[in-house]
Amino acid sequence: MYIFIKEKEDEKTFIDEENIFKLLEKNKNPDKNKVRDILQKSIAKQRLEPNEVATLLNVNSKEQWDEIFEAARLLKEKVYGNRIVLFAPLYIGNECINDCEYCGFRISNKYVIRKTLNSEELKNEVKALVSKGHKRLIVVFGEHPKYSPEFIAKTIDLIYNTKLGNGEIRRVNVNAAPQTVEGYKIIKSVGIGTFQIFQETYHLPTYRKMHPKGPKSNFAWRLYGLDRAMIAGIDDVGIGALFGLYNWKFEVMGLIYHTIHLEERFGVGPHTISFPRIEPAVGTPITQIPPYQVNDEDFKKLVAVLRLSVPYTGLILTAREPVNLRREVLKLGVSQIDAGSSIGVGSYSETDPEIIKKSQFILGDTRTLDEVIYELLKENYIPSFCTACYRAGRTGEHFMEFAIPGFVKRFCTPNALFTLNEYLNDYATSKTKNLGKVIIEKELEKIPEPQKSAIFEGIKKIDIGERDVRF
Ligand code: SAM
Ligand code: SF4
Repeated sequence: MYIFIKEKEDEKTFIDEENIFKLLEKNKNPDKNKVRDILQKSIAKQRLEPNEVATLLNVNSKEQWDEIFEAARLLKEKVYGNRIVLFAPLYIGNECINDCEYCGFRISNKYVIRKTLNSEELKNEVKALVSKGHKRLIVVFGEHPKYSPEFIAKTIDLIYNTKLGNGEIRRVNVNAAPQTVEGYKIIKSVGIGTFQIFQETYHLPTYRKMHPKGPKSNFAWRLYGLDRAMIAGIDDVGIGALFGLYNWKFEVMGLIYHTIHLEERFGVGPHTISFPRIEPAVGTPITQIPPYQVNDEDFKKLVAVLRLSVPYTGLILTAREPVNLRREVLKLGVSQIDAGSSIGVGSYSETDPEIIKKSQFILGDTRTLDEVIYELLKENYIPSFCTACYRAGRTGEHFMEFAIPGFVKRFCTPNALFTLNEYLNDYATSKTKNLGKVIIEKELEKIPEPQKSAIFEGIKKIDIGERDVRF
């Protein structure tokens, strides 16, 4: 157990590069039966050990990969069912003092127009999002002295207090620079969902190359950034790696070691894992051909291995990815996606021909929220805007879904249906509304009494105008 916060570059961290390489080397060409045993363990909902993860990553026959994909699908159905949680990113400001080689917001990028939303603009953005039906946001900031913990807290407070008609934002997650313990406490005080920090790459030499200047050049300060969040009392944290900077298998191992570190130190792992791939960004040459570009096939593999390795952690798939790939990857164990996203500062409420120059990168999926919901319904998913756990003080929703027998049936499915019904009544196009109502009925038929009647009551309440019905 660490009694101090490691933040100096030369100290040993929980990422042991040599050992990761050794594990990846040692488990080359794994035997079929060994792989099957690991898949069995995973389907029994146990977290895999690094050695086992390295074994899965080293599979090289198509037949064995098909077994891995099948196991990931099975595990997703078994643990999470057919719900998909929806959210939207909200970019607050793109000013930044770091120089991350892959990011459109980096300080040396002369092609980006710098912008931070003022209160009026922020309210307009929130209203635009609420008017589409959003309930869950992730707010995104560059790293800049302007974006102090007080500023972040004030921003979140204003978001919660901006209402429109029947709508409001009920959960705000945060993706911002790593903070001090004191800073996290200030942010926590206004009520946040998950605090996300992506390590970008767990490979130190690559990290140094990609982050030449600014506070982000300190690998260990970032690596232990979520430890400080936990110490400050934020027990809902999200980790991630930016795929394309270094070897994808190494990064998956890094994510697993990060998970194990948090589990061992705080008794709880990350709430979510994100696995963005580098997308093209204005004035950012490295994004045209990333050094370790991950192709679609390998992307699917990494998602499946993550699903199987950490069965109780939510997986987030963003709109960086193109529509077709999103459809496929969804089945492999993703639990949250963003939809109707726009990633320019001010881009939900304004139409600005220059918006690309205020955006961090270019999105692969530009469908509207309603289009995404319609398609999810057609594929028999239940789109969910549920925020019930967070608001009832039940933190770590994904963990509870996994760990508490009957939790999904008692809470998640009903709350998903309630929030879907709210969306259908308040925001959906008639095509989506008609299909959604049929899906709600179908789902209700699957639920035994007396629960079915209780949920039916909730649905009826929403139909006659009550809002924010939840278990
Ligand atoms: N500035 C903060 C930071 O760097 O942690 C938080 C916001 S940053 C805009 C959010 C994430 O965007 C980064 O952690 C990185 O993984 C991702 N990102 C940066 N450039 C990207 C690109 N070109 N394509 C895809 N994702 C990118
Ligand atoms: Fe700044 Fe974050 Fe972009 Fe790096 S990734 S340049 S810290 S906004």
